[in-house]
This record gives sequence, structure tokens and C-alpha cells, in this order.
Amino acid sequence: MAYSYQAPVSQTLFDRASLVTPGGVNSPVRAFRAVGGTPRFMVSGSGPYLTDADGREYVDLVCSWGPMILGHSHPEVIAAVQEAVARGTSFGTPGEGEVALAEEIVARVEPVEQVRLVSSGTEATMSAIRLARGFTGRAKVVKFAGCYHGHVDALLAAAGSGVATFGLPDTPGVTGAQAGDTIVLPYNDLDAVRAAFAAHPGEIACVITEASPGNMGVVPPLDGFNAGLKEACAANGALYISDEVMTGFRTSKAGWFGVDGVRPDLMTFGKVMGGGFPAAAFGGRADVMAHLAPAGPVYQAGTLSGNPIATAAGLAQLQLLDDAAYAKVDAVSAEIRGLVGDALTKEGVAHTVQAASNMFSVFFTDRPVRNYEDAKQQEAFRFTAFFHSLLSQGVYLPPSAFESWFVSTAHDTQAVERIAAALPAAARAASEATA
Ligand code: PLP
Repeated sequence: MAYSYQAPVSQTLFDRASLVTPGGVNSPVRAFRAVGGTPRFMVSGSGPYLTDADGREYVDLVCSWGPMILGHSHPEVIAAVQEAVARGTSFGTPGEGEVALAEEIVARVEPVEQVRLVSSGTEATMSAIRLARGFTGRAKVVKFAGCYHGHVDALLAAAGSGVATFGLPDTPGVTGAQAGDTIVLPYNDLDAVRAAFAAHPGEIACVITEASPGNMGVVPPLDGFNAGLKEACAANGALYISDEVMTGFRTSKAGWFGVDGVRPDLMTFGKVMGGGFPAAAFGGRADVMAHLAPAGPVYQAGTLSGNPIATAAGLAQLQLLDDAAYAKVDAVSAEIRGLVGDALTKEGVAHTVQAASNMFSVFFTDRPVRNYEDAKQQEAFRFTAFFHSLLSQGVYLPPSAFESWFVSTAHDTQAVERIAAALPAAARAASEATA
């Protein structure tokens, strides 16, 4: 596919990066492999905009994959960071900032009685699984195809194929032993969950699920699904782990728990709570968390856990996220969803826009998407054309048809108008695309 314009400085940087870094990127989804073309190297961000190394400005609908819910370079977050950094960057001791951030999380999310700070969402889910295994004395973990919980070995058995169903490794480097205790089930299918508990009595330590999945595109839980998971876990002595790394502090003040009210035993957080810095967490029932070292025997640690700059940024961001902020993000999300849907309808492009609060994505199919198999039925080649048309017009979407789009409080009328102006040509490109 020919792209309508070049990005020479980004291309030069990508060429340099490719010599010293595998695939030229530090996280695969940044590489544009699914859509082709040159990944844009960004040099700055302000409010709803990113500027690339070629000096082009984009309305950002990725928001760093979720964290930047106040937009880029929010003055109060930047001020908190500057104040913290002037006092030193890491002490390797406890500090007040991490207490304050933990208190904020506990105050917002009622099921979290105790919380442990870590540095990435992957660490949070990995540690939560270890804790669940240590607490229950059981080995097996249930996860759902299409849900992503970071690159934890045991949780990469996930591609949704029949192979994944048997817990075989999806990626070289994950051994059969590491993946063998993982049971992969279709999302939104409670019968499959009940059958797994029946087939493995007394063996399942936990069920881990994205609170509302955003990693196969946005596929919200059907009514009663999360409650059914909780019930099945409780009935079988397993823990219910809700992964809120993406939804936490984004979909409401209390994340997805604030939306569906289903009380997990353990929860994981990341993204928004770090204000753009590496901060993440896991927490939940005090009796379960009490098993964590040094209070209990399950070991978990981190040199930079609770880093003073990350906690200052996260706390500043959370303190700005009041009801009015969420109302604003929800409203702008609804507006953009409406514009996208209208533009695609006008060009006769089959599509389904799905949302979970302000998270949303567009599937190029006219059928509702309830699980990963459904998501894979879409005409992803139309997304590629849509993506490149928007990119060339200064709108930055996630470079994959299987990702959530994110907006912020900074997405104002001007930013929305820029998106609206770019959509007709993008919808036309999607309609003309061929597989
Ligand atoms: N869990 C969910 C639901 C996520 O969306 C992600 C990342 O996108 C992770 C865990 C892993 O987080 P991190 O990339 O910070 O390791």
C-alpha cells in the first residue's frame, strides 16, 4: 500500500533504532507492523496533541495507551513532577508519596483494603497471580482469549486458537510447564467457566479477567458476566482477579468496579494511576494481601517500586480526576464515537462502535463483538486504510484494529473539529479498501 506522505525524520530515527533495538521499538505495538508504514517518533505532547520529529501535529487518540487522561503536559502534573524531582529521584526507602498514593487508591476503590505498588501492569498481574497461588495453594489459572494481562509467561497463552485452549505456549520462550497451568476460555462464556471448575475440582487458584476488555478492541462484559465469575470463584474456593490496568481510574473514579460494582478479591492497576510514569499496583482483600512479604511468605519486591516521581505524578493526576473530569471525558468520547459512526454509515462501511464508559473502538463488521473470535471476523484491512487516511490528516489512532481508543479532558472543541474534518476521507478510504 502506498502512503500519501512520507515522514523522513521519523524514518531516519526508525532506521537508527532498528540497528540497535529489535524491530526498532521498545514495545511491539508501536511498530506499525499491523498497518504498515513508518512509526511516528514523537517529540512532544501538549493537551490533546502530539508533535512528531517531522514537525507534524496530531490529535492523539491513543493517550499513551490510556494513561494521559488529562492530556499531555498537564501543568499541575508537570509541577508535581518538577517539585518531586528537585528533591531527588529515588531513595530505596519508604517515602510519604507512596503512602499518599496508596491511600488515594484505597479511598477510591472500596474492595482494595491494602495495596502494593509496582512499576508496570505486567508486574502487577504477575504478582497478583503468584499471590493467588500462594494464598490458595493451587496452581491453575483461568484467563480469557483476547484478554491481555501484560507479558507474564503464564498469561501469554491467549491467542484464542484451539492450541491456546489447551494452555500451550503461544510464544517461543514460554515453556509448556509455564503455560500448562493456564486454562484459556472464550470471553463472555460463563458455561465454559463453570465447566472448567467442574473439570478441575480444587485445582484452580484464580480467574483473571480484564474488568472490561480493551485489548481485543473494546468488548464489554455481558450483563451478569463479571458477577457470574465472582460467584463461580466463591463457590469453588478460587480468587476472582479483576485486571483494571486499563480501566482503573479511567472508566470512572473507581474504575470498572465503579461501573459494575462486582467486588473482586484482588485487583490490578497501572496506566492512569502513574500519570505517565511507570507506576502500577495490585491490591484487594486484606486477608489475602497479608500473605505478601514481609507480612507473609509470598515474595514480591522492586528497586523502584513506589518511586517518588512516579507517585507524585500519579497522585497529582488522580487528585484532578473528579466527577466533572470523568463527565468531560465521557462526553467527548460519545461525541467522537458519534462522528466516527456517522462518517462510516455515510460511506456504507459495515462497522460496530463499542464502548465501555469513555473507552471505545470501531470494529469493521456489522455484528456485535462479544469475544475474540467475533473480533477476528472484522475486515481489518479497512481499518488499515482508515488509519492511514487519518494519520495523513493529523489524527493519531492506535496502529491496530484490536486496540481501544483513548481520549482525555483536554480533547476540546477544536480537537474534535479536526477529527470531524478528517473523517469523511478516512471513511471513503475504508469503503474503497480491498483485502
Ligand atoms: N493488563 C492490561 C489490561 C493491560 O491493558 C496492560 C497493558 O496494556 C497490562 C496489563 C500490562 O501493563 P504494562 O504494559 O504496564 O506492563
